[in-house]
Amino acid sequence: MRKYLIAGNWKMNAGPAEGKQKAEELAKTWSGKNLTNEALICPPFVTISAVQSQFSSTSLLTGAQNVSDQDEGAYTGEVSINMLKDAGCSHVIVGHSERREMYGEDSALVAAKAKKVIDANLKAIVCVGEKLESRKANEQENVVRKQLDAVLETISAGDADKIVIAYEPVWAIGTGETATPDQAQSMHQFIRARVEEKWGKDAADSMQILYGGSMKPGNAEELLSQPDVDGGLIGGASLEPDSFSEIIEIAENLS
Ligand code: PEP
Repeated sequence: MRKYLIAGNWKMNAGPAEGKQKAEELAKTWSGKNLTNEALICPPFVTISAVQSQFSSTSLLTGAQNVSDQDEGAYTGEVSINMLKDAGCSHVIVGHSERREMYGEDSALVAAKAKKVIDANLKAIVCVGEKLESRKANEQENVVRKQLDAVLETISAGDADKIVIAYEPVWAIGTGETATPDQAQSMHQFIRARVEEKWGKDAADSMQILYGGSMKPGNAEELLSQPDVDGGLIGGASLEPDSFSEIIEIAENLS
């Protein structure tokens, strides 16, 4: 039976006070309930501990949206993997398209960050996905293959269980436009096949591959029902505790 990961990315929303309130609402819903799947919130760095303390009576997890590729020292404004581990994070998102686009993170840097996460024994959620012009030119698989290979070639197959891939077509992030279930399934199948080519069948079969891009309660069931969709990376809808809980519930009902 597959285990879904329902991951919320709050982006640059919700400071400690607001984040605590949202986490409290989620904790009320999930306190004392054992989840079959995994559910995770990735708040801004400064909000991690406020969320974490609300989640202590639940099986909800806390993660981060980014990490430095350096360990410690004179890197003003950066946050290291050991700091995130110390703060109780289980997962770290790396290579979100907003970081690739707005902060110039290339695939080599994303792979280096993923390696830091894995070496610290946390899970890296590696985001890949094409822009609209690539999709229009039918180049989406080439784009995703290159992004994926950078990570698969930096990390060894023995660490496959510490990698989660999030397929996030850039044209579907925060736009209200969602990939059709067929488009999502087809790319997830492609990603799994690539993982199999590089790391073998066991790693590919057990790899969690999430879909991200305007997932919400109204479309989650159809997307999560696809054979190769193992969860969601959810931006906008994760900021509303009721919507996020509904998606967690949908995943629970499907497993
Ligand atoms: C994201 O930020 O990763 C994302 C998928 O955002 P949204 O759900 O708002 O499209």
